[in-house]
Amino acid sequence: MTACEDYSGRMCITSVTPTICTLMGIPPPGGSTSEVFPDVIKSARAARIEKVDRCLVYAPDAIGSRLCRDYETRFREMSKHAPVRVPLRTVYPPKTPVCFASMFTGMMPKWHGIMKYDKRVITCDTIFDAFARASKACAIVAVKDSSVDRIFRDRDIDYFSETYDRQVTARTLELIEEDEHDLVVAYHQQYDDLLHETGPRSGEALEALENHIGSFVEMAQAVKSYWTHHSWMMAFAPDHGAHTDPATGTGTHGDDIAEDMEIDHFYGVARRIY
Ligand SMILES: [Zn+2]
Repeated sequence: MTACEDYSGRMCITSVTPTICTLMGIPPPGGSTSEVFPDVIKSARAARIEKVDRCLVYAPDAIGSRLCRDYETRFREMSKHAPVRVPLRTVYPPKTPVCFASMFTGMMPKWHGIMKYDKRVITCDTIFDAFARASKACAIVAVKDSSVDRIFRDRDIDYFSETYDRQVTARTLELIEEDEHDLVVAYHQQYDDLLHETGPRSGEALEALENHIGSFVEMAQAVKSYWTHHSWMMAFAPDHGAHTDPATGTGTHGDDIAEDMEIDHFYGVARRIY
């Protein structure tokens, strides 16, 4: 099976890194694709933003395009804050560390080296290294020992390893208010945990989806309150989708199928007020 082959002309998750770097006005990491999301850049230009100096990336696990499509109304509140919707394909295999490594390096898995569910620290250049070279501060807030908590270690990043999603949200809100980091990445995993246990459309999993959307809205409101003297961007940026495993009836992901490979990201930008 090959990766990123034919998902209706969707751009790849590898374009997240160069899009953020372009808007921040810094060189992307070495090895990153140069393809950026044109609609995100256009929305910044339309708002007369030359560059942004703050970025929030909210990364909820396993929320695919099919979920966005089938539960469209639940996403409405969120897209008020991040109105630019970008349909994407993730990388194969659609497993958490593989996809987030591609999202934050701009590289396909064969180049960053995480080709399966493997949480070792990646050694290639990442968006975090690119920010550090530009003297910009990064924070990663993630559930302890999750992929996002593990694979970007040993860098000039402030790491916050939290017990679970609720604590990640609380810490992220604090960091937004403190306004000392140029890039804040916040990772949540409740939807992924529950889809594996109960199925991707179970009541429990859908409640987790609501929690993720609610958390993003809370973070977005904090950005709007505390980053008024910055031009900023924010992203709702999941890693892959999921499907029901007919053998067990519960959820899984890792196949080269649209349910697992297609995701939608949502971006918002704003020009400084003061
Ligand atoms: Zn995942």
